[in-house]
Amino acid sequence: MQSGDTVVVQSRELETLLGALRERGYETIGPVLRDGAVACGELHSLSDLPAGWTDEQDAGRYRLRRRDDQALFGYAVGPNSWKRFLEPPSQVRWRGRRVDGGFEDLASPERPRRYAFFGLRPCDLAALLIKDRVYQACAGIDSSYRSRREGAFLVVVNCGSPSGTCFCASMGTGPRTGPGFDLALTELAGDDRHEFLVEVGSEEGAAVAESVPHRSAEPADLDSAAALLREAESRMGRHLQTEGLKERLDRSYEDPHWNEVAERCLTCGNCTMVCPTCFCATMEDTGDLGGTLTERRRIWDSCFSIEFSYVHGGAVRTSAGARYRQWITHKLATWHDQFGVSGCVGCGRCITWCPAGIDISAEAAAVLRDHGQGG
Ligand code: SF4
Ligand code: SF4
Repeated sequence: MQSGDTVVVQSRELETLLGALRERGYETIGPVLRDGAVACGELHSLSDLPAGWTDEQDAGRYRLRRRDDQALFGYAVGPNSWKRFLEPPSQVRWRGRRVDGGFEDLASPERPRRYAFFGLRPCDLAALLIKDRVYQACAGIDSSYRSRREGAFLVVVNCGSPSGTCFCASMGTGPRTGPGFDLALTELAGDDRHEFLVEVGSEEGAAVAESVPHRSAEPADLDSAAALLREAESRMGRHLQTEGLKERLDRSYEDPHWNEVAERCLTCGNCTMVCPTCFCATMEDTGDLGGTLTERRRIWDSCFSIEFSYVHGGAVRTSAGARYRQWITHKLATWHDQFGVSGCVGCGRCITWCPAGIDISAEAAAVLRDHGQGG
């Protein structure tokens, strides 16, 4: 088998696939049920997957409900993603102890982590590739991310169940995956069939797939997968108009629309915490009460906090409107200038998990509409 090949495996053989990944030294991470949502967690066996569950999502709303079938991947994305494994929310970067005449360095080198992300959605793969660009642009800043990323194995599952807040089709990131995966699966479930079309995207992917019982893919299998993904695209919950958006946002610094958003925005930062491309972090130094031990941690930060824009003597963005403008303008406009792509992949998480139900696709449309563009 080699990169570019496509085969079909029975659904039960995904257990063999998981075993093959573990034998190769990967920690398997995938979708699991946790706290009433599909979360990204440790996957010990196929039975950990949320078989037979789906999600209903809308602005500020998320509910799990039972499906009529036992689909293994019959839901969209949950609140967290691979981000918390490649960039943990709180990570020790240095530890030290005071000794006579100075400090003893207690920092120990990070244990190398090899994650296999099993069931990544195409939008999440796109987000991961965007993150790679961000860190390439900031060479030398985050060796921890680089080492975890280089060791990662990516099993993408094309999306047949977009939610009410998804708009990956507008962003060109789904429901069918682009390149960058090791293996890409499409779930083909029917009356008497439960199989997966498996596309091989790398040599490592080929070696893993080789160890799983499979048959060659027939044209009918490819047609079934294509029909499923066409249908998923037609059920996309939302749409984001990208044409002319960057140019409009670049000129909307003083737009009165931001004041209107500020009346609803709680500046809680949820949208940045759940977003797979948001990367802002800060360093926090703490010491023990005896003044002996000290530690530096990298922790996730958000452009919605007042401290985020603090420069000697005060914060630059004091109003909620200014902070929302900063966030959406960075995502959809200035990200292009910095990294050559949009900072949004259309996963819809920021819409679902915003307690005020603020919708990035609707706010972008409002800015365009206020200026005579868009419908
Ligand atoms: S847009 Fe929503 S999630 Fe984001 S900071 Fe405002 S209230 Fe919180
Ligand atoms: S901005 Fe919202 S929709 Fe876009 S990638 Fe981030 S969380 Fe997903």
